[in-house]
Amino acid sequence: MTQRLYADIIIEISHEQLDRPFQYIIPDEMAEVLKVGDCVLVPFGRGNKILKGYCIEIKTYADYPEDKLKSVMEICNDQVSADGNMIALAWWIRVHFGGTMIQALKTVIPVKKKMTVRTSKRVDLTLEGDELNAVIEECDRKHQTARLRVLKALLAEPTLPYNLVRDKLSVAAPTIRSLESKGYIKVTETEYYRNPIVTDEEEHKTYELSEAQQHIISTVTDNHDAGRPGKYLIHGITGSGKTEVYIGIADHMVRRGLQVIVLIPEIALTYQTLLRFYKRFGDRVSVVNSSMSQGERYDQFLRAKNGEIDVIIGPRSALFTPFTRLGAIIIDEEHEPSYRSENTPRYSAVSCAEYISESRGVSMILGSATPSMESYYKALQGEYELFTLDERLTGGALPDVHIVDLREELRKGNRSIFSDKLRELMDERIARNEQIMLFINRRGVAGFVSCRSCGHVIKCPHCDVSLTEHRGGRLVCHYCGHTEPMPKTCPECSSAYIAGFRVGTEEIEAQVQRMYPSSRVIRMDADTTKEKGSMETILRTFRDHEADILIGTQMIVKGHDFPLVTLVGMLAADMSLSVGDYRAAERTFQLLTQAAGRAGRGVKPGEVVIQTYQPEHYSIVSASSQDYKAFYDEEIIFRTLASYPPLWHMLAVMVVSEKEQAGESLAEKYRQLADAQIQQDSAQKGEPSPQGYTIGPAPAYISKIKDKFRHVLYIKHEDMDVLIAVKDRIESFARERTDSRELTFFDFDP
Ligand code: ADP
Ligand code: ZN
Ligand code: ZN
Repeated sequence: MTQRLYADIIIEISHEQLDRPFQYIIPDEMAEVLKVGDCVLVPFGRGNKILKGYCIEIKTYADYPEDKLKSVMEICNDQVSADGNMIALAWWIRVHFGGTMIQALKTVIPVKKKMTVRTSKRVDLTLEGDELNAVIEECDRKHQTARLRVLKALLAEPTLPYNLVRDKLSVAAPTIRSLESKGYIKVTETEYYRNPIVTDEEEHKTYELSEAQQHIISTVTDNHDAGRPGKYLIHGITGSGKTEVYIGIADHMVRRGLQVIVLIPEIALTYQTLLRFYKRFGDRVSVVNSSMSQGERYDQFLRAKNGEIDVIIGPRSALFTPFTRLGAIIIDEEHEPSYRSENTPRYSAVSCAEYISESRGVSMILGSATPSMESYYKALQGEYELFTLDERLTGGALPDVHIVDLREELRKGNRSIFSDKLRELMDERIARNEQIMLFINRRGVAGFVSCRSCGHVIKCPHCDVSLTEHRGGRLVCHYCGHTEPMPKTCPECSSAYIAGFRVGTEEIEAQVQRMYPSSRVIRMDADTTKEKGSMETILRTFRDHEADILIGTQMIVKGHDFPLVTLVGMLAADMSLSVGDYRAAERTFQLLTQAAGRAGRGVKPGEVVIQTYQPEHYSIVSASSQDYKAFYDEEIIFRTLASYPPLWHMLAVMVVSEKEQAGESLAEKYRQLADAQIQQDSAQKGEPSPQGYTIGPAPAYISKIKDKFRHVLYIKHEDMDVLIAVKDRIESFARERTDSRELTFFDFDP
């Protein structure tokens, strides 16, 4: 008789009290098949309701009397079985970011929603020579731009994946069908996903890698091959050849039989970038993105698991691709906020990658033109190896930057949102038929108060972040809860021009259109990009010079290449400096640096106008000269003095409640628990006074959403483990309050 086995199962049920494993007997016929990570059906509770669960451990002994145990009923095969690595990762996420084990498992394990057929389509060009030229000319004449795009793309690459054409070139299916019916192109469907682009390395290598690029690739890969997988940060301006380095590293790994995850923010997953990966890895590369259905995404994961692909590219969630021979995780634009989940568990992809790197011997490569304070700090501390790429390989000089002092404009009597300088440069561009981008920093529009005469921003006397205007004319600090009345005149200069600053993209669009009635103006913001594919369409329109002026929020500054843009205007650059949040200067620097990088990407030199009330602020000055190091050196001083991350760590605990009073008192209770935990820790370590402290609770930045009140408590400590202990203590307290109607959320280093 074979040895009987027992499975610890996490039941899929959202109730927090059940967030622990239950033990089941593994029936003999399943003994050989059931693996850790499998999804199973089990009878549960008194009624033996059949529920889904995940096997997290298999044991040779029972933890309870055998007659108390029930048996596993079935292994569900509609789910990619998560291997032990994924279970371990889910556990780590649960511990480090809070939430339940089920929530963590759902984050890392793809769920299959519906059956999908694994077919793929490709588009082939069937015309050539004069015939093709004639068709292209005709489309051009008739302004059939979508058709033109398809044909031109196929001209460069005669076979393309259908999805790439549809999603990234944003060409609608009817247009493709019509081209096909005319006999210009051919769409073929294959049952298996085969990427049609043939790899021909010799042909595509039109340049040698630079010495700096080669050095990074060989350092990373030599270390990896020698059994020393490392953690690296590549600090390199846009166009300095980072992507080429990622491809080189991935290529090496793939040749060694290893697999690679490449994270790229969704917004930067452009046609050009994807094509570069397709060209190198052919049908061994795959892409996931958020517009894919659950089924489609599941398919990609299945292919990964079956070893059909070597490289996966995608946003945050691609990190959880179940590769069995993972060699490297590459994270481009590692500073991007989109790498943090906004749902529980609020994990950070960079932290998870670091954990995977350490626990599974995987190399981690972070890259950015403006690294996050955390990553650069770690690099300087020696936790990551730092590489710098500081040459733009595409040529093109850095743009000329003008900083305009808006206080000066007001003094001159100019009350419009356009400074004289910006007006003058815009007129020039319009006359020369060149393109303009206008960028409005939308972060922080939620009511900070500043003086338009002297630029003074009203800040919390305790936290050094700006106060936020609330209804009823009170100013509130969202860290500590400090409030004060809204002043009638500026406390600095006594001017009456003190108010909350609010101006939106729509209003700017209208003004610009009035200023230049015959120019074509388009706008890209949250409103105009709600529909799937609309963002691609706007970008395409602008790229094809079917619009002269593009107005937008931070969306327009990310990674897009518009060679005809010779002027970038930032209307109120310092707006994000006034967000009541310790990352304000960092985010401002990142946005401005990226935005400035949009100008002069083509042959014509570019100019940038930064309009600001704080022209002397280091984040603005250093962004205007694209000097990351200068920014970092100033910012780290502020973080050090104020004990903010990356020096210290911070845990935000949010309580969401229907009754304001109940939420507030629960948050207050949490504060006491946190204090007690911090004290206990200090006592254990023999430190005389507590080595950390709590701030608040206070109403959250957005204090009420959908009639639910939100209170936030901040806890600061040098030691992340203490904050995790604080979280555990609060979490278990919350779990025991069975009748509680309040919800609790955790966010580390928010
Ligand atoms: P980044 O990812 O840092 O923005 P890329 O890798 O996209 O930089 O490179 C920018 C441009 O320079 C691309 O068009 C790329 O083809 C080109 N490029 C990259 N490496 C080299 C090189 N060694 N020599 C010449 N051109 C290069
Ligand atoms: Zn003032
Ligand atoms: Zn405060």
